[in-house]
Amino acid sequence: MKVAFLGTGIMGGPMASNLIKAGHEVTIWNRSAEKAQRIQDAVGGRIAVSPAEAAADSQIVWICVSDTEAVERVVLAEDGILGVARPGLLVADSSTISPTASRALAKRIRERGGDWVDCPVTGSKRGAEEGKLVFIVGGDGESVEKLEPLFQVMGQRVIHIGGIGMGLSAKLAMNLNIALIFEGLAEGLVLAQKAGVGMGQMLDIIGATMLRSGVSDYKGPFLQQRDFSPNFPLHLMLKDIRLMLDYARELRVKLPALETVEEVYAVAADEDLANADYAATLTLLEKWAGISAPAENQA
Ligand code: NAP
Repeated sequence: MKVAFLGTGIMGGPMASNLIKAGHEVTIWNRSAEKAQRIQDAVGGRIAVSPAEAAADSQIVWICVSDTEAVERVVLAEDGILGVARPGLLVADSSTISPTASRALAKRIRERGGDWVDCPVTGSKRGAEEGKLVFIVGGDGESVEKLEPLFQVMGQRVIHIGGIGMGLSAKLAMNLNIALIFEGLAEGLVLAQKAGVGMGQMLDIIGATMLRSGVSDYKGPFLQQRDFSPNFPLHLMLKDIRLMLDYARELRVKLPALETVEEVYAVAADEDLANADYAATLTLLEKWAGISAPAENQA
């Protein structure tokens, strides 16, 4: 298929690469041109100078950029895709953004005869690289079906929730769980460390009991290695937490635990951890507890 891929960061880069490797005709665009260049050097594909140029000759536009403002930029700016939207053009947005904003953008594309599917992902950097993402999807059934050959290359499962914005609604609720589960894991580890229980011992207990989770399985080894290089950058998790809180206000839902976690992430971002992995919030809790990383945990 002819695909325009907009946004080749941690997630979009490997997603676009997998599409190219599978033989799709992919035109990539990234705000910083060097990231698009790195992909072309590694696996091929065509590079466009603007979202509109990438979309002009494509059947599908796949977006994977940071936040609501970034999606609005690639769609609505003078060189955005709205200018070339037409009947038959299908936009698939894998960015985690506001469900309300996603519905508004979809309306603009639909007014020009195109269609829009929100398809946020889970599986992190490793899932993107291995083509094992899970897509959580909102949109018209026929349009979702058209994306099937591309979902198959980039992911292992597609869960179609309902109409536009419903993929994002489920994704935000899902990330709420990840933020709270990780906070529980980190706070438990810090309390244990302060009491003299090693991180390795605690992770061993967690792995052997009902505390075990996808979050502890994935993040545990990184914590032990004290590897906080970004898989999911902290500033993006903070962005998601704020999206959840905004959406909760819109829907008249109270999220007291998440409100507290937002404060932890906000302080961590102020303390220069914004571009580290969100797991680096552990180091802030350690600092507040007056402990430094025990020798057994140091990389
Ligand atoms: P990333 O590595 O920081 O990449 C962000 C991308 O957005 C880059 O291509 C960046 O361009 C582009 N961008 C940012 N602001 C822009 C703007 N104003 N206009 C145009 N492009 C802009 O982030 P990522 O981890 O790939 O995340 C992408 C999306 O996937 C986010 O919504 C994130 O929440 C979601 N997500 C991430 C993960 C994960 O584990 N990383 C998992 C699930 C979902 P530049 O290269 O020029 O900065």
